[in-house]
Amino acid sequence: MIAFPFDNSYARELPDFCVSWQPERVPQPVLVFLNHALAAELGLDLAAAPREELAALFAGNQLPAGAQPIAQAYAGHQFGHFSPQLGDGRALLLGEVIDRHGRRRDIAFKGSGPTPFSRRGDGKAALGPMLREALVGEAMHALGIPTTRALAVVATGEPVYRERILPGAVLTRVAASHIRVGTFQYFWAHGTPEHVRRLADYAICRHYPELAAREDRYLALLTAVAERQAALIAQWMHVGFIHGVMNTDNMAISGETIDYGPCAFMEAYDPQAVFSSIDHGGRYAYQAQPSIARWNLARFAETLLPLISDDEGQAVARANEVIDSFVARYEQHWRAGLRAKLGLASDAPGDRLLGERWLDLLEAQRVDYTLAFRYLADAAQGDDSRLRTLFAGQPALKQWLEHWHARCAAEDAGRNAIQAARERAARMRRMNPWIIPRNHRVEEALAAAEKGDLGPFERLLQAVRHPFDENPAYAHCAEPAPAEFMSHFRTF
Ligand code: AMP
Ligand code: MG
Ligand code: MG
Repeated sequence: MIAFPFDNSYARELPDFCVSWQPERVPQPVLVFLNHALAAELGLDLAAAPREELAALFAGNQLPAGAQPIAQAYAGHQFGHFSPQLGDGRALLLGEVIDRHGRRRDIAFKGSGPTPFSRRGDGKAALGPMLREALVGEAMHALGIPTTRALAVVATGEPVYRERILPGAVLTRVAASHIRVGTFQYFWAHGTPEHVRRLADYAICRHYPELAAREDRYLALLTAVAERQAALIAQWMHVGFIHGVMNTDNMAISGETIDYGPCAFMEAYDPQAVFSSIDHGGRYAYQAQPSIARWNLARFAETLLPLISDDEGQAVARANEVIDSFVARYEQHWRAGLRAKLGLASDAPGDRLLGERWLDLLEAQRVDYTLAFRYLADAAQGDDSRLRTLFAGQPALKQWLEHWHARCAAEDAGRNAIQAARERAARMRRMNPWIIPRNHRVEEALAAAEKGDLGPFERLLQAVRHPFDENPAYAHCAEPAPAEFMSHFRTF
């Protein structure tokens, strides 16, 4: 029997925040994805285990020794409307493992059957969306963006009933924790300030231990979460990631990206881009993400008010100050990131305008966001041939490039120009990916996987795990989607 060195601190320290529950048995588990690199990071020795044993394990049929499965309670604002009770309706936390770097990480199932929080849902997950979560999570990780990751995906051999009948699956998710803004909201709505305090103390101890001794630690927690979210959302924006369902229950206190549902990567630059089939009003459009993060942080702040100060007026004033600081925090991360994407190592007064003009140009000509930055690295060394192929209007590009070259030359003054250009191009290629999980390639891979052919999924996985390498073997993954694919593309 496989044993994980589990600790179960959440179940032990916060027993009234969750219910003990067991996964449902599945008829025919088949292992379709196993993350060897992540298993190694977690110190789990799975390499020697037979595949059938791993399939039974990651299906929930044969739990690893030490697992103490629980469904966690949470609430959340979904598209702006408060649902006082959501919770793990199809997920179970098995326990925590301390990884090779000494970090405590949750190991949880998704799609493991109904729980007391399931409401009308069946507690199940379909293979396509679980492989999608695994793939996009690996892509985000390779792009250097904090994220939950999939350790395994098992096909269950059981049908799942959606708009059509789909093959079922269970995903094993690894997260810094599953504490969400919505977890705080649950105990704010149903419990007492004492409940919220216990949760906050647990979250501080786990994610922000440096704050534990501070007298103002709850305000400091809010500030620290705001800072991590500001950094995270800026990173999303820089790779064109659209989460798609930034409900407060999908915002992690740890600062990791969590809950890959209808997410998508933008192709042609369009600030209004929305792909989610359920986001009719564009609430979670690309450019709305920073302001939604701020809104979610305000909902988080509400739950902390009684802990921030006994004087309500003072608590509100202090919390507001932090929420208002989000805009400047985000701007700082975003601007620094854009400068780096443009290959600039220093900070000059005109950079903001230069960056905005570039984005305006991409928007006006509907240029592929990823490739525009990638090919700009060639232009740093004087070759703009690939870049030009992306633009319909050449004079506007030429004019912008003149400004950019002048800015780069000013930065390089006194240096060997060839050397400086080479270094800039190399920096840009470490910052601007060649490969993102493009929607048409993801759909193609998942459609094949559903029919039993995992080849395209595995190839795409290899490609997105090396997003900065221009390996000709993955050229088909770097190409933009055909326009007709993008205009009506929807995620679910
Ligand atoms: P999500 O949209 O994935 O963030 O999920 C929102 C809520 O719906 C969470 O409480 C989930 O546990 C629950 N949920 C989603 N799908 C299902 C399902 N198939 N069965 C039961 N609960 C579900
Ligand atoms: Mg969710
Ligand atoms: Mg989800």
